[in-house]
Amino acid sequence: MEALIVIVVLAVIILAVVGGVALTRRDRRPTPTAPAAGPAPAALPGLRPLGERLARTRHAVGDRLSGLFGRGALDAAFWSELEETLVTGDVGVGTAGAIVEQVRDSRPADTAAAHDALQAALVGLFAGRDRAIASVGAPTVIVVVGVNGTGKTTSIAKLAHRFIGEGKQVVLGAADTFRAGASQQLETWASRVGADFVGGPSNSDPAAVAFRALERGRETSADVVIVDTAGRLHSNRNLMEELTKIMRVLTREAGSIDETLLVLDATIGQNAIVQARTFTAAVGVSGIVLSKLDGTARGGVVVAIEQDLDLPVKLIGVGEGMEDLVAFDPEAFVDALLGDGR
Ligand code: GDP
Ligand code: MG
Repeated sequence: MEALIVIVVLAVIILAVVGGVALTRRDRRPTPTAPAAGPAPAALPGLRPLGERLARTRHAVGDRLSGLFGRGALDAAFWSELEETLVTGDVGVGTAGAIVEQVRDSRPADTAAAHDALQAALVGLFAGRDRAIASVGAPTVIVVVGVNGTGKTTSIAKLAHRFIGEGKQVVLGAADTFRAGASQQLETWASRVGADFVGGPSNSDPAAVAFRALERGRETSADVVIVDTAGRLHSNRNLMEELTKIMRVLTREAGSIDETLLVLDATIGQNAIVQARTFTAAVGVSGIVLSKLDGTARGGVVVAIEQDLDLPVKLIGVGEGMEDLVAFDPEAFVDALLGDGR
């Protein structure tokens, strides 16, 4: 009888301890970090509103437009200055003319109506493009291409930082084996943002590194594998051949590549379009990352790039911090461009 009581008491104690540990474990489980419908980004510490981060463009284009609309007269001078301002903002000569024509054809009664029509015309130019980062594969495979110095490696770090913030596991593959410092730079970023890293010896086959990064992603059940690539346009080795091989190997092994993102530097304006064509001719680009928009007064180049390349701008770089890569939101961008945005 006594023995039975001791066993029951022991069982109760064991159950209580096990239950307690389980509860504690549950409490320790990290809470999801992705703010589903949380406060607007502007309210988050360290995040400045888009209009502020695009201050150069807002001052050059938005302030001028505000002055123009403030004058109140819809005369010939108004229309020509509107067109000139848009051209100055780098939206492209043809597109600027078409926008003005569209606004004019809407027969606005006053400058306020013209302002609304301009806003609608600009937003309309961006309509109908899928800007989401595709993530069908397991792991999701993203290849990042572009000329050296455009911001590939830092954009990859920012993107990884964002995925990790969403609770995802990320592998970064340094397939730029040509420059000694390139792999090291990505490795440093990987450890800072908490991503896994796969690199290779100098001058080794970049496609082999890309392959091993994918393999690592599979072994560790990672959610996303992002491959950095070389971007020298002038060298003995053929960059485009190298990129094509990386794409071929990844496509063969992964079934498909989810995203091939081309990074373009907004500060070189429409020259970026010429640069882009070299890449789009060689590899199937699925979206544009437009870096350094904070560094230009001619942010209207987003319009020109989308129109000319017929590709969606998916992400924009608006600073050097890890939070400074944001999804491209046409309405917020147009507000910032027009000077009405926050
Ligand atoms: P990569 O050669 O294409 O890999 O270019 P990097 O990622 O090394 O970037 C080149 C430089 O551009 C670095 O100094 C980055 O900090 C800077 N950079 C990249 N994106 C942005 C951006 O959105 N805004 C600003 N201001 N600088 C950027
Ligand atoms: Mg790089």
